[in-house]
Amino acid sequence: MKSIKGNNVSPHQFVLNDSLHQLFDAVNVVSVQGYDEQRQVIYWNVGSELLYGYTKEQALGQKLEDLIIPEHMRELVIAAHSNWITQGIEIPASEITLRHQNGTDVNVFSSHVLFTNQYNKKQMYCLDVNLADVKYAQSQAQFKDNMLKTIIEALPDLFFLMEMDGTILDYHGTDKKNIFVKPSQFIGKRMIDLLPEDIVSKFQTHIDKALHHHGMTTFEFELNMHRGIVYFEARLNYLSAYNQIVAIIRDISDQYKSAEIIRQQAYFDSLTQLPNRFLSLDRLSQMLVECERSNEKTAVLFLDLDDFKKINDSLGHEVGDKVLIESGRRLKQVLREADTVGRLGGDEFIVLLRGINERHDVLVITEHLLKAFRKPFIIDGRELMLTVSIGAAIYPENGQSASDLLRNADTAMYRAKDLGRNSCSFFSKEMNAMMLRRFKIEEQMHGALERKEFELYYQPQFDVKKRQITGGEALLRWHNSTLGNITPDEFIPIAEHTGLIVPIGRFVIQQALYFLNQWQSIKKQKYTMAVNLSPRQFSDIELLEIITKALIDNNINAESLELEITEGVLMSRQPLVHETLIQIDALGIKLSMDDFGTGYSSLSYLRQYDFDVLKIDRSFINGITLNKADCELVNAIISMAHSLGLMVVAEGVETVEQLTLLDELGCDLAQGYYFSKPIPAKAFLDFVADY
Ligand code: C2E
Ligand code: CA
Ligand code: CA
Repeated sequence: MKSIKGNNVSPHQFVLNDSLHQLFDAVNVVSVQGYDEQRQVIYWNVGSELLYGYTKEQALGQKLEDLIIPEHMRELVIAAHSNWITQGIEIPASEITLRHQNGTDVNVFSSHVLFTNQYNKKQMYCLDVNLADVKYAQSQAQFKDNMLKTIIEALPDLFFLMEMDGTILDYHGTDKKNIFVKPSQFIGKRMIDLLPEDIVSKFQTHIDKALHHHGMTTFEFELNMHRGIVYFEARLNYLSAYNQIVAIIRDISDQYKSAEIIRQQAYFDSLTQLPNRFLSLDRLSQMLVECERSNEKTAVLFLDLDDFKKINDSLGHEVGDKVLIESGRRLKQVLREADTVGRLGGDEFIVLLRGINERHDVLVITEHLLKAFRKPFIIDGRELMLTVSIGAAIYPENGQSASDLLRNADTAMYRAKDLGRNSCSFFSKEMNAMMLRRFKIEEQMHGALERKEFELYYQPQFDVKKRQITGGEALLRWHNSTLGNITPDEFIPIAEHTGLIVPIGRFVIQQALYFLNQWQSIKKQKYTMAVNLSPRQFSDIELLEIITKALIDNNINAESLELEITEGVLMSRQPLVHETLIQIDALGIKLSMDDFGTGYSSLSYLRQYDFDVLKIDRSFINGITLNKADCELVNAIISMAHSLGLMVVAEGVETVEQLTLLDELGCDLAQGYYFSKPIPAKAFLDFVADY
């Protein structure tokens, strides 16, 4: 027992179980207060000091209602206390707000006991537990709850809490348009009762994933709802403490649609709406994977419209665009559903054929494709005839990867072009080597002019009767440090294809006329110089200017220059061919029909322009002394040419027998190894001097 310096407290009043007081003194997290029948404090532990601010000394002897009871509760407390003492009506334990010494509220859970001591006096003990921490925790929880509600309302997502088997335990969400039924109707239901089977199984797969990876897993699914197909994104997370799954589901239809538009732009050609290069190759890659599994073949066709550039250049891009759209449409029409037509760019298309057993299957389809172009294209009331060249590469024999197959189909397409267009070629190994060589040549040709790798050789032309030199033909040679000497038969078509023939051709004209001037000055005599012109050079708008300037610069008469063209030039439909040929004639320059007999050998071409010379191709001269047919043909050509007023040159004369026969047939001029091979300028001048 402790001696208490109290106000007017009689010693017998605080006699209680001493050991109990010792216990109360030791706990400071619970406030223990003892009151006598007059509600005066008889016990006040450290917990009370801490909770209410009054020291034991301040509290002892004070009345309960004066210490910690707020004003408005005093009467109530006094009455309750008296009821307990007099009538035994217990004061129940309860949560209550009392008062600190400094006037602030103290929330406590208060329990009470009533003792009767050895003097038969009643003593009330109150045990108050501070609720401040609990209250704080509660308010925090409340706050979090509210915040969550606000967030959920602000988010477009649907939140589901589920058992591991997909039973829905709880649901939140404001996006009412995306749920089939009221939440009350699906809480407690399993997903399998609400969603289509395939989506449920998707959910189940991802629930397992979330369970095993202990993290968020995300997937997308689509539902056919009354307002159309709706695209959703689901995010699942596993709540390990509860063995439950949280599913957050969001309508991503708008996002999906924008993505679809972007996808359309990224994967499809905007003009024809066909798959673009990227998507086409992607599909091809997929097909190859499938083919590998199923041991099937696939064919890749590379299609290139013939002379599309001409349409674009002469009729405008709008017409060109319409031609491309119509071409795409026709290709699609011919193919089966499972096949793909894509646009690679420009006038290039790609076709992917599935389920191919043998080359013949491809042939049947390419026949149809070529046929699809036979009907004229009617664009803006204009009838256009178009053809297409096709290259085919077959998986697996012609390549393992999409890019290999495409490249090889491209190579085969070039071959189809070389073979006269409007046809299909299949890739072969030899083509590959050819193509590689072609690339190397192309690579080296850039800069070859600047590196002065080109040189003109000259081959003399003779008067058959008089056996006198009348002129020469300029023939180009290319000495390349990497590739060695490359023949014009090999590099001229490539120069033509790349357009490099334009600058190279200019060089040839300037050089040939420069040499002619040299030659004429030495011999003080007029000679002709024959220069070859290829189709592409006619699209060089400066061609005539270059020729005229070279004539003037080198003091050469126009009639000393002879320009050799083949039927290929006339058929090439290159722009400006017609105008240029007329101008050439008007300038007084001679025009020569080269390689006559190898092409169409059309008389109408010879009549169309004012040709001066006709050159009979080497292949006929070769045979004149051997077979009658060749001889008769050459005879006929010479007569016909003469009747049209043309001089005739025999090319490739190698023997004296050939020369004698040509003389008999009335051929005017001859050139060939019999006289001389094409030789460098210096050697040529020596040859002329010696002859
Ligand atoms: P081409 O215009 O028909 O030239 C005649 C070709 O026949 C030359 O071949 C010449 O060397 C060859 N030749 C001449 N006589 C004989 C002979 O008796 N026997 C044999 N077997 N061949 C003979 P080359 O110089 O290799 O030129 C090949 C083709 O390249 C030319 O055929 C021509 O189409 C083209 N070419 C050459 N130089 C030029 C050029 O400067 N510009 C253009 N556009 N084409 C050129
Ligand atoms: Ca020639
Ligand atoms: Ca020729």
